[in-house]
Amino acid sequence: MFDVCWQMLPALQDIRALRRSLLRWFRHHGRDLPWRQTRDPYAILVSEFMLQQTQVTTVIPYYQRWLRTFPDFATLARASENQVLRAWQGLGYYARARNLHATAKTVMHKHRGNFPRKIEQIRQLSGIGKYTAHAVATFAFDQSVPIIEANTGRVLARLFNLRESIDSTAGRTKLWEVAQCLLPGSHAADFNSALLDLGAVICVARKPKCNLCPISTFCRAKNPAALPVRRSRPKTTQLVETHGFIVRGNRILLEKSHHRWRGMWILPRLELDSSNPAIVGKKPVYESVFPFTHHRVTLSVYHWPAPKRIGPRQKWLESIEHVAMPSPHRRAVDALLDADFLSAKPAAQRFPQR
Ligand code: SF4
Repeated sequence: MFDVCWQMLPALQDIRALRRSLLRWFRHHGRDLPWRQTRDPYAILVSEFMLQQTQVTTVIPYYQRWLRTFPDFATLARASENQVLRAWQGLGYYARARNLHATAKTVMHKHRGNFPRKIEQIRQLSGIGKYTAHAVATFAFDQSVPIIEANTGRVLARLFNLRESIDSTAGRTKLWEVAQCLLPGSHAADFNSALLDLGAVICVARKPKCNLCPISTFCRAKNPAALPVRRSRPKTTQLVETHGFIVRGNRILLEKSHHRWRGMWILPRLELDSSNPAIVGKKPVYESVFPFTHHRVTLSVYHWPAPKRIGPRQKWLESIEHVAMPSPHRRAVDALLDADFLSAKPAAQRFPQR
């Protein structure tokens, strides 16, 4: 790795000047984020799980609500899966919530409630890869370990004009190496936060604000907007999913998902495509489109008669208030109740007699 440091980095005095410029900028312009006001590894881990795939502004209210509901590992470990998924509802990518729940149980049962400090031990916890392990180690324990995610990766790729694709193994390895070389031996948490914020507000993806950049004199990027280099993304696939809106009396039929939204309640799947005779001539009563990884999913909901016998994963429910439902399905139920059946608005949670 030290070969890379020698090849890639400016002279030692320049590295020190770069760190000073970045930290000075951070003291004046760093973002005031709630998880920066704590050194509690639990709170920091919650923020890191939420920030995977989700933007900061969306995460803040969820983070604050989550800490009120589950203030520590012990409370989270005791919660049911439904309570955890319900609290996560709206953030999507529910595997994160399940992993956080599993990690809380492991910390309580295997580490007696104390979050481990060694990177190798942190990485053995559910859903924690290199980035998350390093993030908790640096932000909670001020360990001098680098962090590479979208923002820091972009800054470093531009700063050193890296031409390798950042989603290749060689490109990722190089990024981690230059990040390690740049890192100061102390105050690593501030340095890592500064690099993150520079990527979030100055060295942004489309139009980097190089004229405002505190480290522009050290930057080697010739065409910053073209960096970082990435492999082309997989094409977006269109999917249509048909579900039934099935009510009987004051109850709605829901089904426990065991695929994408494992453990959450969804409208029952109809397993029909648009050419099926059972559906020909019928119009969906609700449609919406939502993204999922590299899919664009059309959710088509049909008003459907109640079955004589329900499936093993299905249940008639009078209230959905405390039920964990993925947002596209909850929005569908809310909209359908508003449109057809609504008498009073707790009706999103309770079903009127018909
Ligand atoms: S000078 Fe421009 S490209 Fe280079 S690090 Fe700063 S903002 Fe990014």
